[in-house]
Amino acid sequence: MSILENHIHEPKIAYFSMEIGLRDEIPTFSGGLGVLAGDTVKSAADLNLPFVAVTLISHKGYFRQEIDDSGQQREYPVDWDPSKLMKPASEQVSVTIEGRVVIVKAWIYFVESPRGGSIPVIYLDTNHDKNSDEDKILTDQLYGGDASYRIKQEVVLGIGGVRMLKKLGFLIKKYHMNEGHAAFLTLELLHKFKKDIENVWDEEHIWDIEPVKDLCVFTTHTPVEAGHDKFTYELFNKVFGNFFPENIMKKLAGEKNVNMTLLGFNLSNFVNGVAKKHGEVSKSMFPGYQINAITNGVHSYTWTSESMKKIFDKYLPGWANEPEIFVRIGAIPDDEIWNAHLESKKKLIEYVNTVSNTDMDTDTLTIGFARRATAYKRADLLFTDLERLERIGSGRIQVIYAGKAHPKDDEGKKLIKNIYSLREKLKGKIKLSFIENYNMEIALKLVSGVDIWLNTPLRPLEASGTSGMKAAHNGVMNFSVLDGWWIEGHIEGFTGWAIGPAPTELEPDKNMNKIDADDLYHKLETRIIPTYYDDRKCWIRMMQNAIGKNAYYFNTHRMMRRYVTEAYIR
Ligand SMILES: *Cc1c(COP(=O)(O)O)cnc(C)c1O
Repeated sequence: MSILENHIHEPKIAYFSMEIGLRDEIPTFSGGLGVLAGDTVKSAADLNLPFVAVTLISHKGYFRQEIDDSGQQREYPVDWDPSKLMKPASEQVSVTIEGRVVIVKAWIYFVESPRGGSIPVIYLDTNHDKNSDEDKILTDQLYGGDASYRIKQEVVLGIGGVRMLKKLGFLIKKYHMNEGHAAFLTLELLHKFKKDIENVWDEEHIWDIEPVKDLCVFTTHTPVEAGHDKFTYELFNKVFGNFFPENIMKKLAGEKNVNMTLLGFNLSNFVNGVAKKHGEVSKSMFPGYQINAITNGVHSYTWTSESMKKIFDKYLPGWANEPEIFVRIGAIPDDEIWNAHLESKKKLIEYVNTVSNTDMDTDTLTIGFARRATAYKRADLLFTDLERLERIGSGRIQVIYAGKAHPKDDEGKKLIKNIYSLREKLKGKIKLSFIENYNMEIALKLVSGVDIWLNTPLRPLEASGTSGMKAAHNGVMNFSVLDGWWIEGHIEGFTGWAIGPAPTELEPDKNMNKIDADDLYHKLETRIIPTYYDDRKCWIRMMQNAIGKNAYYFNTHRMMRRYVTEAYIR
């Protein structure tokens, strides 16, 4: 009997993602995109949706981060053994890469919900004895290697994924591409619907686009042109051989390059961005396309600390599977919310003191900043004017950082180095810690244990952002630039605070770093610090609003219900 026996009796939504972050023991994710994919699968399981997910096994993970005394990031492969957590499928398929037949195996992991739902996640694996050495390692490194390595990985994911689902016995009613990495799946589907006409005078007529579009849903996550996955036609032809004609490809994926986003757009009847603003930005980047917006969320149960869970269970039973129940947040007495927060804060501060020797305390207003270390997130904006920061914050704030820089992102690594060096400079004034090897466990500790969650992206580059939604689930207020989800979640002085001007007031060529930093210092000094120390009642009211307004809405249960009604069953 197949291990999928109970899963192949009804047609499924197939969700394709290059990375999926379900838990740290399965280290096949790098950041927000992967954790979102993991939260998506978890909510699909809770909601009992007919769903299957496809990704790569990434044997070496993304990387384990260590930071040396000089602040230099060092990267090490992650050691993990899929056989401890997953079952190998007996089925295998193959794809053709540069003319070689590459065998693709699969591991199956089940995401089980306490509510009875069970979602299989298929991890594709090319580490097969019969494959050549260079093909064996194609599913080793998440976002590693060069363009050639990447395009081959995307062949495995897109084309190998469709074939594997079929081989495993799945019937698929929608293919949902989470970002462009999986968009080659459309080429496999085009082959499936290829018309069998004799004497075709124009090759274009044998490719039937409409049935493929009907089957596909595409979610874009990138608000900058440079962020979209692109390959040269030279590389495409080298890897694909004659699998798909270049002249047709150019109509679907772009004349100059194979643009994976464009390919997804042209072959999907439903396309969306991940926040309202991101939908608009995408429309201006791809004029002529109907682009919808479904704002991201987070999986409420995963991203709520133990102490908060306890009071939610007590006063808001059923909250985890119906986050709308947060509407009754006012039912929780102030002191119980505050104490639950203090418990999470103590846990975090103990952890930080153990790993970083900073002697932080639980009374001081604690600011958290953790996400991928990359230039547009401006992790060092807080330190724009050190003198001013010291004047405002000495003895009154402490700050905790974490985040990995992509191994090839020198700017990101510089950010880490810079923050590292500031620990000494600020000594005796502002306690500052940088936690190594950011992962989901550290993320939960941070988003629940700090008092304020800081986010300073350069507009409009934060498509959505999700860590702030996690903070809100724990009654931690956001202090953030108005970009991504925060444009929708922000009510000034009520759910949190904005940094810098509203998006409508933006003039792009102004010096945003200075404008944003100015406002950051101003609000920290005149609103946040005074409220925290002198008006605890108002502070707790805002904590309640973060939960009752932000967590109430920005969760993956709401997000998935929207994907179902707007994208999957149209
Ligand atoms: C939630 C999460 C992210 C995403 O953070 P953003 O602030 O939305 O960029 C990245 N890494 C980990 C480990 C996370 O849990």
